[in-house]
Amino acid sequence: MPLYEYLCEDCEGIFETVKPMKEADEPAPCPVCDADGQRLMPTSFTAFIVRKGYPRRIPDKGTYWHLGQEVTYLPKSARPYEHPQIKKERRKDPLSQADIADLTERKIVERRGKREEARQKRALVKDAQVRRKKEKLPPRQPGKINL
Ligand SMILES: [Zn+2]
Repeated sequence: MPLYEYLCEDCEGIFETVKPMKEADEPAPCPVCDADGQRLMPTSFTAFIVRKGYPRRIPDKGTYWHLGQEVTYLPKSARPYEHPQIKKERRKDPLSQADIADLTERKIVERRGKREEARQKRALVKDAQVRRKKEKLPPRQPGKINL
């Protein structure tokens, strides 16, 4: 049988009594003055129940627990592992003009580099073709590496 706590308002005493669970809410006689003591609800909780598929604290305050954090409502639609109330701080500060200019410049340089790379490859192929003609070699076979 579990242990319950009671408050005696007559003598302002707190006492514990072992009782069957279904009688726990009924008053218990105070061991000092024999008045009826009222049950004290525990102030710290480790007990959870599952309601609507979510763990909830006992007594049920109407809140839910989501990823170990108390929330007041269930997410209607959310990304996995996210709740609107406990959403992680997203990047709010918009990119500055300087940042945009910097990113644009980087993109341009990147594209220029790729174009230059492609140009060099074409030049190599062209050189090889010229060399083959000079040396009277058969033209390069597609799909074969014989530059
Ligand atoms: Zn008492």
